[in-house]
Amino acid sequence: MPFFGAHESVAGGLHLAFDRLRQVGGQALQIFTRNQRQWHPPPLTSEEISLFCQAWQESGLVPVASHASYLINLASGKPELIHKSITAFIEELHRCQQLGIAFAVIHPGSHGGDGVETGLARFTVALDQVLAATPPAVRVLLETTAGQGTSLGSRFEELAAILELSRFPQRLGICLDTCHIFAAGYDIRSQSAYEQSFAEFDRIVGIEQIRFFHLNDSLKKLARIK
Ligand SMILES: [Zn+2]
Repeated sequence: MPFFGAHESVAGGLHLAFDRLRQVGGQALQIFTRNQRQWHPPPLTSEEISLFCQAWQESGLVPVASHASYLINLASGKPELIHKSITAFIEELHRCQQLGIAFAVIHPGSHGGDGVETGLARFTVALDQVLAATPPAVRVLLETTAGQGTSLGSRFEELAAILELSRFPQRLGICLDTCHIFAAGYDIRSQSAYEQSFAEFDRIVGIEQIRFFHLNDSLKKLARIK
């Protein structure tokens, strides 16, 4: 059986996310390990780490993923932003390792008008720099996106390209967001449409790559795939 859970707030302390999860009967957790609107959060204290680990034990060791800051754009063509993004994501993976979290979810970023191919190449080079500098215990999950503006990751082919281009494919996986794939043009409204979309995912990316789902309703309509 899959584990069904929620993204929970860490307001007041990281460990409090487990209490919030228990209140909704969750069996899996996603959190921000930091204020996700800040570039440089203060380092974790040993007290924060031990409270988190204790609460996690008490939860029965539910699966936990961290979601990276929305500020990070590893596909940017701007040197300053790329540098800040790499540093911030390295810090994020270190925080995950300190907390024992095995999965870090990230959006494949935005190419800023330079084109999908250029963006994917830049993303993978930056991602590989992060992976080379961080402990192998943490797996990076590429999240499917809705493809708004110049964001990458809305086509299954784009996710497959990152897995192929990276020097560290064994440290990668996918977080599949139902709202995002739907808004990107993959129909999942009926059993047959769902089966067709997932067969396509399996053929292009590989179903075994999916480690987490974000189950979200979609405000947007099904897009027509370009
Ligand atoms: Zn996300």
